[in-house]
Amino acid sequence: MSNQPLEQQLDQPLKQAEPAAVRPNREEALAAVDTLIRWIGDDPSREGLTGTPDRVVRAYDEHFQGYAVDPVALLQRTFEEVEGYDEMVLLRDIRFESHCEHHIKPIIGRVHIAYLPEHRVVGISKLARVVDAYAKRLQIQEKMTAQIANTIAEVLEPQGVGVVIEATHQCMTTRGVYKPGAIMVTSRMLGLFRSDHRTRREFLSLIRSQNGQPDRA
Ligand SMILES: [Zn+2]
Repeated sequence: MSNQPLEQQLDQPLKQAEPAAVRPNREEALAAVDTLIRWIGDDPSREGLTGTPDRVVRAYDEHFQGYAVDPVALLQRTFEEVEGYDEMVLLRDIRFESHCEHHIKPIIGRVHIAYLPEHRVVGISKLARVVDAYAKRLQIQEKMTAQIANTIAEVLEPQGVGVVIEATHQCMTTRGVYKPGAIMVTSRMLGLFRSDHRTRREFLSLIRSQNGQPDRA
């Protein structure tokens, strides 16, 4: 990625999303869904829709629980007894579901993460939790890719980090240009994954070594 303004923006130090100045209460959130139902021309008081605002708000709680999670804190418990292990650690095909910040439509795909430990490694489930912490927010795929890589680089201080995300965006598969099956691929390479061709090639060949296809959504 060499697009300058975006690259500069992604290189900013990590920061949490600013909380909304005044967070609406649950009643206001329910009323907003009621408004949208009336906006599309339906009647929120008819039998099939009476529980819908409540279900939608609860689904939002689930889809966007990442705002309450600190990804840096997730990675801070590391293991230093690694017996000199300094080869690549790879966790691939981490399934995720996110929502695009432009249409609030699902982004569904897989994340592949690799790093070259310097002194410390982290439990692999923590890498998957970092993915969810960023996925369960309003996102763009490019930003999410950079956030995952930057967080791992900042906390683990490894020799390098590589993150590749392959995903489908329902805002383009089910509306707009209607291109079902189109897969967006983004990557972020830091340290040796950026400067050393062999490391990058090893990472890319490992994530392609089986038929790991992103889910078509
Ligand atoms: Zn979108």
